[in-house]
Amino acid sequence: MSRSNTKKVVFFTPHADDIEFGSPFMCIKSLKLGYDVTEVLMTNCQYGTERKEFRGERLEKIRKREMENVAKIYKKHTKNQLKIIYAGFIDGHLPLNQKALNYVINLIKEIKPDIVFAPDPVYAIDYHFDHLNTGRLVYFALKRLNSDVMPKRIFFYYSFKSNISIRCRFKDLKIVIEALSQHKSQVSPLKSKFLYFSRKIYQINKYFKYGGFSERFRELKMVDGKPKTDQKINTIKDSMLYSIYYKLINYPYDWYFPTPEELGLQEKVKLL
Ligand SMILES: [Zn+2]
Repeated sequence: MSRSNTKKVVFFTPHADDIEFGSPFMCIKSLKLGYDVTEVLMTNCQYGTERKEFRGERLEKIRKREMENVAKIYKKHTKNQLKIIYAGFIDGHLPLNQKALNYVINLIKEIKPDIVFAPDPVYAIDYHFDHLNTGRLVYFALKRLNSDVMPKRIFFYYSFKSNISIRCRFKDLKIVIEALSQHKSQVSPLKSKFLYFSRKIYQINKYFKYGGFSERFRELKMVDGKPKTDQKINTIKDSMLYSIYYKLINYPYDWYFPTPEELGLQEKVKLL
């Protein structure tokens, strides 16, 4: 297969562990199929710990190393290298502005992916600011792209309004947990054991519900080669789900202190 025929897949992720939590089976499946798979990490993950002394550049280094270890695990099992692009925005402060939008537009234009994965920007089960903005930036970028660089399929993970199940291999669960366990700053060995069993039960439940092991996504529909405009949340059921998930993630906690200025953090974004 020549290089130009190789399918390209891009996963936009707000933080280092979001593939492993949001769409690990599709990442493994894409790598096993020999696709050209890129993860675009939007933030530098400087805040994701309760240990305050680690926040900042120190945590950024740790989490990047963990992510590279994840790519090694994927390579060991799939013989394919997950490419990682660090966008360089500050954790917890991913902006929804022209600079960030241009970054995503230029990246899609350059890579020309066939398939894009991103967190759901509207019907989200995770209302973390960075998650919403990663999804929004991808959505607004796609709205501005011409058809010659438009991805063929766009899937949103972390969605409560999924409309498509994609088959995955139950056996890959072991790889998922091995990958997840590399995020040592986030997932303790005990937690990864717990995740292994809870995901097993979750997958078995899905097997009976949908007739196969699968990962569920909301696929953004295309009309005349352009992404269909997302509807506002307008049904009672969706409003209730929105408010439940919104409250779940927005309970008060001091995740984002101290400020980036206090930690001396700056955006490291290089526009293409
Ligand atoms: Zn995240």
